[in-house]
Amino acid sequence: MRAAAVIFDLDNCLSAGREVPERIYQPGFDAIRQANDGLLTEAQLASAFEDAWRLAIDDVAERHKFSAAMKDAAMKAFAKMEMDEPMHGYPDLHHLRDIDARHFLVTSGFRRLQESKITALGIASWFDEIIIDAIDEPGQRGKEGIFRDLLQQQSLKPRDVLVVGDNPHSEIAAGNRLGCRTIQILRPGVKRGETAWHHIQSLDELLTLIAGA
Ligand SMILES: [Mg+2]
Repeated sequence: MRAAAVIFDLDNCLSAGREVPERIYQPGFDAIRQANDGLLTEAQLASAFEDAWRLAIDDVAERHKFSAAMKDAAMKAFAKMEMDEPMHGYPDLHHLRDIDARHFLVTSGFRRLQESKITALGIASWFDEIIIDAIDEPGQRGKEGIFRDLLQQQSLKPRDVLVVGDNPHSEIAAGNRLGCRTIQILRPGVKRGETAWHHIQSLDELLTLIAGA
């Protein structure tokens, strides 16, 4: 199928959330624990920290019923976090360069951490444009808003755009609402959702899909 452009997600799509070592997240977890003030049990905190590896921290705060002080402490600590060693990403990452379409990377999270991960992966030059939907800055557009603006700026028809990501509630939902073809990539630990147009296990399959009729 023809694709004029592919919009990729970063976390658990191109690199595992867990590739960031625990020591990088520790200050965030410490800040949440300090502000906890006996509200959540140790087990509840552990469960929230586990979710922090795969979900946005504001999502984690809501699901685990953080107090305002806990959420505030988390936001401040996470905004300072930075990946400071090289990352490899998933082993099929090199296929990104073989895809014959415009490449965009749209990722939600804290600006400093997301930018440092992209630098650590060494993939910035493979994309036509990288957009960070920063949750620590005012005026967060959300993925749907960003995709819509991108389609307009690049004069792309939704049907010619593939959206590739792991999260049915984030990029897959946004892509579906705009009429893009959505592809859920089922990286290890990712739960299959039924809302995506297509499912793949790896970027090899994406290449085959784009090259096929
Ligand atoms: Mg993701």
